[in-house]
Amino acid sequence: MYKCILCHNELFKNYSEMLCDQCRDTIASYLRLEVIKKEQYNIYIIFFYEGDIKKLIRRYKFHESTYLAKVFSVYLSRAILEAKLNFKHISYIPMYAKKKKVRGYDQSELLARETSKRTGLQFRSIVTRKKRTKSLYRLNRAERKKELIDAFTLNDLVDDVIIIDDIYTTGSTIHEVSKTLEESGIKKYNFLVLA
Ligand SMILES: [Zn+2]
Repeated sequence: MYKCILCHNELFKNYSEMLCDQCRDTIASYLRLEVIKKEQYNIYIIFFYEGDIKKLIRRYKFHESTYLAKVFSVYLSRAILEAKLNFKHISYIPMYAKKKKVRGYDQSELLARETSKRTGLQFRSIVTRKKRTKSLYRLNRAERKKELIDAFTLNDLVDDVIIIDDIYTTGSTIHEVSKTLEESGIKKYNFLVLA
């Protein structure tokens, strides 16, 4: 038996979103597909980070609800189509390896893997996080910048790539990843963020 991931009522059809009609409308009300244009790349943000979406993302990140990656990948894939993002590869901004070991999974990696299955974009692991960074939201701009210096290193020389991240806060992590890519001569890339 399938249950709606939000209201937990029984589903009579196996929807790929795992949501009943009503909750699907609720989730749709958080859609924004905002584009932030930078000189070298664009950042696409799919949802407003609030209400039920915030609840689901927190459940996904902190309560081992990895099945939600499949649900979110529906929306990520749709955004790729709607925004006409023509890329060959899909990757992600990773968490620090030791942190992943503790959590058991990397939430952005799973999003990229599920979206790869759904879209046919080739999955690649483009960068590695070299050091454990503090939670950035507590820091001011200068502290964030300092914290992120040399945080990433290129793992795989892959151009023509969409890079997935889970939550957009200040853009400083994305900026740092983009610096790593630019230094390696990678030119064609965009970021796609869940919320
Ligand atoms: Zn429901």
